[in-house]
Amino acid sequence: MKAYYSDHYVLPLPPGHKFPMGKYEMLRRLVSTPGVVPGVELLAAERASDEDLARAHDPGYVGRVARGELDEAEVRRIGFPWSSAMVERSRRSSAGTVAACRTALAEGVAVNLAGGTHHAFAARGEGFCVFNDSAVAARALQADGSIRRAVVIDCDVHQGNGTASIFSGDDSVVTYSIHGANNFPYRKERSDVDVPLPDGTRDGEYLAALAATLPGVLKDARADLAIFVTGADPHENDRFGRLKLTAAGIAARDRYVFAACRDTGIPVAASMAGGYGRDVAQTAAIHLETVRVAASAAEAYA
Ligand SMILES: [Zn+2]
Repeated sequence: MKAYYSDHYVLPLPPGHKFPMGKYEMLRRLVSTPGVVPGVELLAAERASDEDLARAHDPGYVGRVARGELDEAEVRRIGFPWSSAMVERSRRSSAGTVAACRTALAEGVAVNLAGGTHHAFAARGEGFCVFNDSAVAARALQADGSIRRAVVIDCDVHQGNGTASIFSGDDSVVTYSIHGANNFPYRKERSDVDVPLPDGTRDGEYLAALAATLPGVLKDARADLAIFVTGADPHENDRFGRLKLTAAGIAARDRYVFAACRDTGIPVAASMAGGYGRDVAQTAAIHLETVRVAASAAEAYA
């Protein structure tokens, strides 16, 4: 299974910033340790061009990000200080999902070791998200005729509000989000299917909610490709998530989603999305388990 990385593009953050930049390098090191993810092949992500980004975003916004012309409020909303490194990293992270999607069409399953920046809207960023990699990828593959329809399965603990907004009124991309009802964003957008969960939701209730909703969405979507925004932040030790899933529960979630896609005959590209544990190593370990589950799902597709 191919895994695309972009952690060598680091965005400089002030000391004490709450974004766990280090988890990406940690994850890539774990994935590259011999024997940890059988059959994995690591590939550096390329870079999304302005044209690639403008298929999902307002071209004016793309230009202002690229040139460092965002105003103070826009920068604050993103939550990262602007730098050319931030722009480059965001381009690489988006291209990683594009590449994972193309590979998934050929091979069944692929992953981006970054991405899942689902709070980015067409004309603005938010919540550590500059560009919406899922939207950039779906649009890239639609543009060249590789796919007609896609489904975005968003299991990050926060609602995929940017993705929902970008694809609202477009029935060629179906959006599904299962998330904490009381989590950021406090004003939710409307996905095609939203599954809001109460604070403190545990493994059993979570998996039951997923099983009650996802199969119908996949069946109705008639999608050529699934983009699975995974997320380590439903974990019980996450600083921002309000759910109480165990690592085993998140792995069960991942196995369920890959199996449901396979049963429906849909290839899957997975991205990592959020994860803000007090212990970064624990967050990286949860993402790693997602990659391991993806690799064994890839074998089942082969
Ligand atoms: Zn999140």
